[in-house]
Amino acid sequence: MDAEFFRAWITCAAEVIEANRDHLTQLDAAIGDADHGINLARGFTAVLHTLDAQNPGAAAAATPGRILAVTGATIISEVGGAAGPLYGTAFRRAGKALGRVADVDLPALAAALEAALAGVQELGAAREGDKTMVDALAAATRVFRNAIAAGASQDDALSVLAAAASAAAVATIPMQALKGRASHLGPRSVGHKDPGAASAALILGALRDAVRAPTAPGRYRGRA
Ligand code: ADP
Ligand code: MG
Repeated sequence: MDAEFFRAWITCAAEVIEANRDHLTQLDAAIGDADHGINLARGFTAVLHTLDAQNPGAAAAATPGRILAVTGATIISEVGGAAGPLYGTAFRRAGKALGRVADVDLPALAAALEAALAGVQELGAAREGDKTMVDALAAATRVFRNAIAAGASQDDALSVLAAAASAAAVATIPMQALKGRASHLGPRSVGHKDPGAASAALILGALRDAVRAPTAPGRYRGRA
């Protein structure tokens, strides 16, 4: 997976977040303050502008790690609330874990996802089952590792990763939130999908679509 693949991922992610902006905001309206989709869509739009604005020399020299680092830094500066620093840290840590390699193999991507998860947990102190984005990221990272260990192809490993993230987001519905704004609702947070788990599932789903359509990103229109 080269820099072009990672650009395709970020482009797919931006498009699917934009397509689900209102839906994510509605999820946040139920158990938060109705800004999640709006904030994330603004952040990813800024990321695309930043990547597009790179001069041709910088763009040609960009490594996968650099693309994720720029993504993380832009999200941190553009997106407020809880999700901005958390997603920004996730992308920055993932970028750092990839280092300067031009081509990322499956184990390196798994290590990058683990670094992203560790960063989110260091910053937010959420554990799996607390009804946050950690639920989707942790489940996806775990099944991805297992799929690689079992010898899965890249396409298959990314497909199970996306499916696990999506299932984990659905599994937050019956949970009570123990971290973030929704935790203030106590038992009233039960019965709603966590917006951050939903957005994480969309972003990770875009990773699968980047491998399927590296030259034509943006066809993914899944729902959170
Ligand atoms: P805010 O709650 O500040 O308005 P957002 O609405 O953008 O921020 O994001 C809310 C999402 O952030 C939640 O749905 C949850 O998934 C995630 N989140 C909140 N707090 C934490 C935390 N401590 N650790 C991990 N994720 C968190
Ligand atoms: Mg919110």
